[in-house]
Amino acid sequence: ESIFDVVAQAPEDPILGLNEAFKTDPREKKVNLSIGVYCTEEGKVPLLNVVEKAEQKILEEGAPHTYLPISGLPSFTSGVQKLLFGEDSALIKDKKAVTVQSLGGTGALKVGADFLAQVLPNPEAIVSAPTWQNHVAIFEQAGFEVGSYPYYDKASGEINFPAMLESLKGLKENTVVILHACCHNPTGLDLTQEQWAQVVDVCAAHKLIPFLDIAYQGFGDGLEEDAGAIRQFAASGITFLVANSFSKSFSLYGERIGALTVVCHNSEEASRVMSALKAVIRANYSNPPAHGAKIVGQVLNDPELLAQWHADLKEMRERIKEMRRDLADELKALGAKKDFEFVTRQKGMFSFSGLTPEQVQRLKDEFGVYAVKSGRICVASLNKGNVKYTAEAIKEVL
Ligand code: PLP
Repeated sequence: ESIFDVVAQAPEDPILGLNEAFKTDPREKKVNLSIGVYCTEEGKVPLLNVVEKAEQKILEEGAPHTYLPISGLPSFTSGVQKLLFGEDSALIKDKKAVTVQSLGGTGALKVGADFLAQVLPNPEAIVSAPTWQNHVAIFEQAGFEVGSYPYYDKASGEINFPAMLESLKGLKENTVVILHACCHNPTGLDLTQEQWAQVVDVCAAHKLIPFLDIAYQGFGDGLEEDAGAIRQFAASGITFLVANSFSKSFSLYGERIGALTVVCHNSEEASRVMSALKAVIRANYSNPPAHGAKIVGQVLNDPELLAQWHADLKEMRERIKEMRRDLADELKALGAKKDFEFVTRQKGMFSFSGLTPEQVQRLKDEFGVYAVKSGRICVASLNKGNVKYTAEAIKEVL
């Protein structure tokens, strides 16, 4: 008998599980479109030029491995604010926003959820249907009741914006509304700036708490363009939170580097909020790891490295767009039963392909093409060498 007899076997993460299955698949021809990782034309996770240069500088400095402050590396967190709100943001000047370094975007969401759970008497959050599954898990574990708002419309393959807006209008005051600021995971469908303006208005009128998750800034239309929703919330004067990640945009997945930013009414409130965030972090992991923050901090504060990052990011963004184009073209050339032109209009790493769970299963069993059961495919894993094969496999299972 053991105290652990009561511990049930938890289900494996479906996406990470697929990734493991892919690795052990002995077939020579196989394509992994399951996990959200950007790969190069050679099918490798890149070490960005800019990261290599920043790491060289860090190594040359030869600094010891001391603790970072609880809130993280100051040059990093100040750089994050400029990236999110723009160089000349009034929010930054007025010290209304506080930023803490986090363990990736996931860690930012977690610290934010724990903080909000302390503040709200009956914490409730709402996520898009569908969303990144960890949104639900993180907020539930923090003590939230988690619901969903309509987003993807299966019949049209588009966003059902009127339904989304209606749903938001029906929420209780202080409901936390989790929003994908750009490159929606899993659908690849983003709101227009006009639609964002309406979401901002509804959040303000109904006293909702927007929590923007931006894990793919720079993968949609560009760093500035992808911050459009954040800039609109910033201009509205309401309080909101932002979780951002550099896992994808710097290809620093394993360094666990991101940030949580809370926008407050004034600097006095911001200072109190910062103290509460630090208390959450202190009792959790004490202070964040340094290496990723040093890399990103260097880059965000050095014009030359910044320009290099913009170039590296552009290359990734444009390669993804090219792969979207190629996939749609290949399927058309093969005379596929379905038009895949919509793939070229979606943003970011993912596409909701519309494939059914049965078709996804056949892709894996018969062709070694791994997609998520929902039909989500990571187009950032396609390349000139596998896109035709992938298209042929999709055509066969349609
Ligand atoms: N949010 C969304 C929507 C994501 O897709 C991801 C990564 O897949 C994250 C947050 C967090 O990523 P990480 O914790 O690796 O930075």
